[in-house]
Amino acid sequence: MAGFALRKDKNGAVAFVGFFDERADFSPVMDLGGNPLALNFRGVVGINSLGVGKYLDFVELWDERKVFYDECPQQLVDAFLMLPALLGPEDNTAEIRSLAVPYRCAKCQDTFSIMVRADEIRGPAQIMTFPARVCPKCNAFLKVEPIAEDFAVLVEQGALKIGK
Ligand SMILES: [Zn+2]
Repeated sequence: MAGFALRKDKNGAVAFVGFFDERADFSPVMDLGGNPLALNFRGVVGINSLGVGKYLDFVELWDERKVFYDECPQQLVDAFLMLPALLGPEDNTAEIRSLAVPYRCAKCQDTFSIMVRADEIRGPAQIMTFPARVCPKCNAFLKVEPIAEDFAVLVEQGALKIGK
């Protein structure tokens, strides 16, 4: 079973590894991280309801601190969409700087979760355009899965600042 760990990475961000569940301990984050506080979620493999509870306690500690979310994997993006409170208090929403976007290759019939920077996505929110990516297997251009349209909610929430 996946455990939980966190460390400060070379860019000064606090990086999480493993699963957000009852064993997840976010208490060192505020001391470890700076202001603004950058959180990297690349190594996160999932979150359950107990992890959500722990994370929401951690969000309470942010106060006025500016918080950035980097490299959010798909499982977490799904969780943000279902539970916006994971993005922080309404008046101090975290800013997602990069997140996994689901792409599909029509040729290989395969889907790929690919990291995209927020400013690579073009608005407006209702008709977002995602950056072109090629299939890692066959090099054909990929299509963005329709579910990515749900990201409009994140834009409206102020969590995802897409390009114009
Ligand atoms: Zn392909």
